[in-house]
Amino acid sequence: MQIIENFSLQEYNTFGIQAYAKFFAQAGTTDELLYISQQTGMFKKPHLVLGGGSNILFTKDFDGTIIKISMRGMEVVDESASNVYLNVNAGENWDDLVEYCVQQSWGGLENLSLIPGQTGSSPIQNIGAYGVELKDHFHSLEALHKQSGQKKTFTAQECKFGYRDSFFKREGRDQYIILSVTFILDKEPAINTSYAALAAELQKGGITQPDIHDIREAVIRIRRSKLPDPVAIGNAGSFFKNPVINTEQYKRLSEAFPDVVSYPDKNGIKIAAGWLIERSGLKGYRLGDAGVHEKQALVLVNYGNAKGSDIVKLAEMIRCSVMENFGVGLEAEVNIV
Ligand SMILES: Cc1cc2nc3c(=O)[nH]c(=O)nc-3n(C[C@H](O)[C@H](O)[C@H](O)COP(=O)(O)OP(=O)(O)OC[C@H]3O[C@@H](n4cnc5c(N)ncnc54)[C@H](O)[C@@H]3O)c2cc1C
Repeated sequence: MQIIENFSLQEYNTFGIQAYAKFFAQAGTTDELLYISQQTGMFKKPHLVLGGGSNILFTKDFDGTIIKISMRGMEVVDESASNVYLNVNAGENWDDLVEYCVQQSWGGLENLSLIPGQTGSSPIQNIGAYGVELKDHFHSLEALHKQSGQKKTFTAQECKFGYRDSFFKREGRDQYIILSVTFILDKEPAINTSYAALAAELQKGGITQPDIHDIREAVIRIRRSKLPDPVAIGNAGSFFKNPVINTEQYKRLSEAFPDVVSYPDKNGIKIAAGWLIERSGLKGYRLGDAGVHEKQALVLVNYGNAKGSDIVKLAEMIRCSVMENFGVGLEAEVNIV
């Protein structure tokens, strides 16, 4: 285990932004994590916990320690007639986990196929896609409290999951390092085809009674056709959250724009941010090497040599334009550092 100085982060963020960390280290075990923190005293100084770097935008060099979470391994910790309880260490690749569960015929995570990143980061924004959120199959997680060095187990309720949101983005922000997550998986999977695009993809393939293998394959096909592959074009997936507005605001918006794309939400009406950006005429828009993706307006991309500050400038422009056109505010989903 090494602590490396002046370390390039370009390969450690899916935007492919060039930025340097003053110090960089990888923790393959919790003991290594504790050792590095003691050696560098990093929890008392500027530091950043890094997973797969797929939800992060570096806008400048990082003047502190970046610790990459690399704890691997998973095990079944309990089982009942209908469920398997799988504990997964934070450094496991998310999609490898989903693939493994599908191979075992354990249902629950298949709609979340092909989301980049690591398992330890998945509860932070309660990752979601195609009608399922992480919280739907979450049991608990174990985290290290940075200040006290104590481990704490969090239940689903304590995680306060919301739409792309949790305790770890609010009151608990920057206070904990997630070490492992335990999932509840179904031995007799309940198939979720509530998301219209997924149902349509299955229908297109003539699949009327899909199993979890079919769901995973269909989700992967849709994602590959719609979303840019970060290996080819740097990006961090959806740059903004879909804004949730109240019924009064929605009434005004839908009267002016009857084709507005929206979904019911427990806190109001969720508006498709991609629609707002596209209808602002910004799909495919470029500001140097920073751009709005041609197929998916919600995804901002790095065409080669964009700096983090270029992406931020573009995001600001989009935010102003959407506010001016529709009176709706956009909030970044990506963590800007
Ligand atoms: C092409 C593409 C498609 C995407 N599609 C989706 C999607 O459909 N749905 C969705 O929800 N997201 C999506 N994302 C966003 C992203 O994949 C998720 O947010 C993912 O969970 C981020 O994981 P990561 O390991 O890369 O996190 P990172 O980007 O490394 O970190 C994200 C945040 O979590 C913190 N963090 C990381 N690990 C830990 C830890 N162990 N303990 C404490 N804090 C930690 C970091 O400090 C940072 O603040 C997509 C991204 C891309 C590039």
